[in-house]
Amino acid sequence: CEEFTLKDLSRLTNAFAEEAKIGSGSFGSVYRAKLPDGREVAIKRAERASTGARRRRRFDAERAFRSELRLLSRVNHRNLVSLLGFCEERGERILVFEFMPHGALHDHLHGEDAGSGHSPLFSSWEARLRVALDAARGVEYLHCYAVPPIIHRDIKPSNILLDDDWTAKVSDFGLSLVSGASASASPTTTSGTAGTVGYMDPEYYRLQELTERSDVYSFGVVLLELVTGRKAIHRDQSQEGSGSPRNVIEFAVPAVEAGNIDKILDSRVPAPRGHEVEAVARVAKIGAECVRPRGRGRPVMSEVVAELEWAVTLCE
Ligand code: ADP
Repeated sequence: CEEFTLKDLSRLTNAFAEEAKIGSGSFGSVYRAKLPDGREVAIKRAERASTGARRRRRFDAERAFRSELRLLSRVNHRNLVSLLGFCEERGERILVFEFMPHGALHDHLHGEDAGSGHSPLFSSWEARLRVALDAARGVEYLHCYAVPPIIHRDIKPSNILLDDDWTAKVSDFGLSLVSGASASASPTTTSGTAGTVGYMDPEYYRLQELTERSDVYSFGVVLLELVTGRKAIHRDQSQEGSGSPRNVIEFAVPAVEAGNIDKILDSRVPAPRGHEVEAVARVAKIGAECVRPRGRGRPVMSEVVAELEWAVTLCE
């Protein structure tokens, strides 16, 4: 991965223009730009510490940046968003990533226009299961092949990005930790408990003991979202009635356990036919296993990958 100077980056077409801004997150803002060789990139620029900012906050932010940089420069997999370069100069902390033209899975599933465009995620179950398999392979790589192993800690559909050909890649390592490190060694101590509500493993929250099983839990929530098309948590209860389940786990798991999955499937996708029926049922089942309350009862990512491979093969 390449070290850029601020001068290099400010020369890039569009870099840091307000109209090139494609997102903002906990870290800062994300811009779309083009490298001189024509490659499109996403430039993630951290919030600059203001002059009045306390030294402690700036220190935490710098630590988080270095942590992401260190982790990212060690990993390389087709289902992880690649880091192409970075810049750390005059208080700026900038990461340059490969650009993912189809954006975040979250927007496809739950965005305002979800289901109305030409997204393959609404034309077949196979496309959805492929996204699940790609993302699972990315997480499996972090757990099983990265040395030392890495726990992502923030698996959710807004951190699963889609390439030009709809290959899914896992992104955002801002919260990741090397496996075995204690939860209190969080690189983002200012933000309190790491993770996102709705995806956070309740056992990790209770015991503050971080293992790969917590990523499996979050991944299970993602699988249930892919199967049902529902958000992890329903914030707006008004249309649903007060008695309806508040989260995708309460909604989906009882139906999966009762073998009634046709009642919970995302109705925006054509009903599964032939072998797809079995494939979707298997994915719903593995999703339910991933979100078991006790970490030891959950599968490991390699088992999730194997099940998803089987499910995708069934659809072909
Ligand atoms: P957060 O910190 O909230 O998880 P990020 O800062 O990683 O979010 O990214 C915010 C948004 O910017 C993403 O949801 C996505 O829409 C967009 N984005 C981030 N990285 C890329 C990328 N490599 N290619 C295309 N879009 C991206």
